[in-house]
Amino acid sequence: MQQNFFNISEKVQSAADKAMESLKGRFAEVDEITEYNQQKVLSAFIKNNVSESMFQESTGYGYGDRGREVIDKVFADIVGAEDALVRHNFTCGTHTLAVALYGMLRPGDVMLCVTGTPYDTIHSVIGIDGKGDGSLADFGVIYKQVDLKDNKPDLEAIKEAVSGEKIKLVYIQRSRGYSLRPSLSCEQIGEIVKIVKENSDADVMVDNCYGEFTQTIEPTQVGADIIAGSLIKNAGGGIARTGGYVAGRADLVEKISYRLTTPGLGREVGATLGMSRELYMGIFFAPHTVGEAIKTAIFTASLFERFGFGTTPKSTEPRFDIVQSVLLNNEENLIAFCQGMQSGAPIDSFVTPEPWDMPGYDSKVIMAAGAFTGGASIELSADAPLREPFAVWMQGGLNFHSAKTGIMLAAEKMAERGLI
Ligand SMILES: *Cc1c(COP(=O)(O)O)cnc(C)c1O
Repeated sequence: MQQNFFNISEKVQSAADKAMESLKGRFAEVDEITEYNQQKVLSAFIKNNVSESMFQESTGYGYGDRGREVIDKVFADIVGAEDALVRHNFTCGTHTLAVALYGMLRPGDVMLCVTGTPYDTIHSVIGIDGKGDGSLADFGVIYKQVDLKDNKPDLEAIKEAVSGEKIKLVYIQRSRGYSLRPSLSCEQIGEIVKIVKENSDADVMVDNCYGEFTQTIEPTQVGADIIAGSLIKNAGGGIARTGGYVAGRADLVEKISYRLTTPGLGREVGATLGMSRELYMGIFFAPHTVGEAIKTAIFTASLFERFGFGTTPKSTEPRFDIVQSVLLNNEENLIAFCQGMQSGAPIDSFVTPEPWDMPGYDSKVIMAAGAFTGGASIELSADAPLREPFAVWMQGGLNFHSAKTGIMLAAEKMAERGLI
C-alpha cells in the first residue's frame, strides 16, 4: 500500500473495505442507470445540434439567444416533456418552485399537497405560516393537504380529496427532503397521477429536487404536468453555479415563463451573460454526478450500519433521491460526524463546524459543507438538527472517491473520540 494520506485507522478502513465488497452489485445497478441516462442526455444534445456558438453570451434583453432557446429543448427531450425553461435567473429550488406555483395558480384556486407537509422553505411561499407578505395565500390561493399514512401517500384519501371539490393543482414532493419518510419512485408518482386524472381535472406538479436522474425516467414520463428543480442539486451536475428548471406541458411552461419575466415577454428575454456553457455542461455531467452521489449515499449507509447505526434508506433499499440519513443517537456523534466530514472537504477543510441557532429551527443545527459552489448540495454536505432522533442528513459527492474519503473521515472522527 502507498501513502495513507488521511491516517485512516484499521477499524474504519476494514469496515469501508467490507462495505465496498458488499456493494458491488448495487454499484453495478447504479452504473447501469447512469449509462442509460448519459446516453439519453447525449442523444438530446446531438438531436438538437448543440454547438459551440450557443455558449456565446447575450446582454441586455437577451433577445434571440440561441443558447437559451436550445437548452430548453434539450432539457425537455431529456425528461420527455413538451417544453422546459432552464435558467440561471432562477435563484434556487424554492424560487423555481414558487415561480411555477405563481405561474399556474389564480385567486380562488385550490392547491392540494398530497405528500404531507412540504419542504420547509415552501411554507412561506404557500403562506402556511400566515404572514401577509405576498404568499400564495395572500393572493387568494387556498391550500389543502393530504397527510401521509404510514409514511406513504394515502391513495384512498387522495382519491377522496380530489373528487370532493374542484382542485386546480395537486402537488407532490418526490424527495424525502429532511424528513424520514422514503422518497417516491416515478412509479409511485404515476399511481398518484392516475388517481388524480381519473377523478378530477387537476394539474399535477412534482417538486423534483434531489430526484433527477436517480431513475431512468422522470415524473413527466408518468403523467406529471410540471416538474421543477434546482441546478445546484442533481440537474446542474455540480457544474452550474446557480439556476433552476421547470419542464412539462407547453401551456403551463408558457404561463410560468410569464411569471419568471412578465406577461407578454415570457421566455423571449433573459440575458445569459455567459452562463450557457456551464448550464449545458452541468446537464451533460448530471447523470454521472448523480450516480456518484448515490454511490456515496449507499456507501454511507453500509459503513454506518457496520458500526451499528440505523439508516434510512438502508444500504439495501432502493433510492429515488440522493439523500441519506443516519441515526447517530446523540449529540456527540452528530458533531463528530460533521466535523470529520468537513475535514475532508476540498474547500474549507480547516473550518470546524459548530452547532448554531439557525433561523427557522427550534433546535441548534450543525452542518458540514466545503463546496466549490456556495450551498450546493450536489457536493458532499451534511446537516443535523441537535434533537431527537439525532439524525444526520447527508447528500452529494461530486465524485465517489473524494466523497467516500469524506465519509470515512466522518467515521474516523467518531473513532478518534471513542464513539465507535
Ligand atoms: C432543496 C429542496 C427544495 C428547495 O430548494 P433550495 O434550492 O434549497 O431553495 C425544495 N424541495 C426539496 C425536496 C428540496 O430538496
